[in-house]
Amino acid sequence: MSFDLVLFGGTGDLAWRKLMPALFQAFRHGKLPQGGRILAAAREDFSAATYRSWLHERFLDVEGAKQPGDEEFARFAGLVHYLRVDLSQPGDYVQIRQWLDAPRDDGPADTVVLYLATSPHLFPQICEQLGKVALNGPNVRVVLEKPLGHDLESAQEINRAVRSVFSETQAFRIDHYLGKSAVQNLMALRFGNALFEPLWRRESIANIQITLAEQLGVGTRGDFYDRTGALRDMIQNHALQLLTMIAMEPPSRNDADAIRDEKLKVLHALKPFTEDSVLHDVIRGQYRGGTVDGRPVPGYRDETKVPPHSHTETFVALRTEVQNWRWSGVPFYLRTGKRLAAPEAQIVVNFRPAPHRIFPGVNVPNKLVIKLQPEDGLELHLLAAKGSGPSEALSPVCLDLDFDKAFAENRVGGYERLLLEAIAGRLNLFVRSDEQEQAWHWIEPVLRAWERDDDVSGGPRPYVAGTWGPAAASALVARDGFAWPEEQ
Ligand code: NAP
Repeated sequence: MSFDLVLFGGTGDLAWRKLMPALFQAFRHGKLPQGGRILAAAREDFSAATYRSWLHERFLDVEGAKQPGDEEFARFAGLVHYLRVDLSQPGDYVQIRQWLDAPRDDGPADTVVLYLATSPHLFPQICEQLGKVALNGPNVRVVLEKPLGHDLESAQEINRAVRSVFSETQAFRIDHYLGKSAVQNLMALRFGNALFEPLWRRESIANIQITLAEQLGVGTRGDFYDRTGALRDMIQNHALQLLTMIAMEPPSRNDADAIRDEKLKVLHALKPFTEDSVLHDVIRGQYRGGTVDGRPVPGYRDETKVPPHSHTETFVALRTEVQNWRWSGVPFYLRTGKRLAAPEAQIVVNFRPAPHRIFPGVNVPNKLVIKLQPEDGLELHLLAAKGSGPSEALSPVCLDLDFDKAFAENRVGGYERLLLEAIAGRLNLFVRSDEQEQAWHWIEPVLRAWERDDDVSGGPRPYVAGTWGPAAASALVARDGFAWPEEQ
């Protein structure tokens, strides 16, 4: 199956740091379909040759083993082309069309993937112009990067613009967490095995905790971040997508709409926020100066391009529930933040303790840990007999359920997987517009309550960089008799 992939924003940070390295890995692993071409498009005045050498230089920043050798890069670069276009100029879309239509030895590509790695404010205009040059035929797919909107209204506006030109089955909305191996393995564990499903419910599970922690601050992106904040940047999309993967009912088929229908039901079942529950169940914080990895770091308000009195949250912890028979009463805690103690993204499923103790020592409940960062992996924490005597206390052991290690040669990175799925036209790992809009609908009362509350409370609670956020986030979980993983 031949393909043409057009990378709008081909000179951007996302393109050279994530997308091109992922395409290179797919090429190196022999997974990129034969007969493919990659066209980078941006305003920079490059020829194809200068773009390739620019990219080669950028690849030197790619981590160790993922760096291409010169010969390998030269073979990959053979697929890469460049077109200078200004996406605000309707005439430039004609050029893209002509480039794609130019006769080639093996005939026109079976599939055309248009990857929009530019600022989303260009999306409506790009879609409209793509429609005008008829680049929306049935073999065309459009890949949309986050952020898809700033609130429900702007998300709906982008979706309307996309849908006026492309059908829903042509729209591939990226959430890169869905591309992670551990998330794939979670699906395999839940729906490919009979073992866990009977336990996957309120009778056996005490609570579920999703942590997406970053150690980095906002770096040079202070102006973007200050308009966004942690709730929009991480909770509305990534954390809620992970929650749906955990809480969804088994889909009837392994097909995109069967899966996305179930995820949507979870989003509809989330306990709605009220003005009162935002105060009790949502904690927002903002980092102050502190120490990370032994180095002093500035506070959020002292970062470049951040207003000195900013009320933007760099941390959120919240408690919610999925109001249905399976999950009734089980708290789901979501937490994300910048400048936290460790760069850890994980989901912890905390099971209930054994109902009756016959062994001495602490009755430590089992937990399933789905690790997303810094490394992907799945672990089941159990208690086992270490010593010999019957009076000996049990010791915690950890069962490695990382199936990917058994198939090491098939290990695939997140963006690599998502790009290959988009080329293959499989939507299972992409977000449908109704899911995305329902997620906005659910967080909107929080955004509105914070806007009202800013003048009363003075905004987010301060926390010291390099810690796990405001103490109130621990109290939120402790209130139910639980603790975050680092406090257990
Ligand atoms: P960036 O570094 O600012 O790159 C933007 C790209 O768009 C550049 O290639 C730029 O090239 C091109 N561009 C801008 N206006 C254009 C126009 N009128 N015509 C043609 N090309 C134009 O931004 P980025 O970090 O790559 O991010 C791109 C999008 O992905 C953003 O929405 C961002 O929020 C999202 N995203 C980024 C990351 C990441 O890790 N960077 C992760 C997730 C999502 P020229 O200036 O040469 O035209």
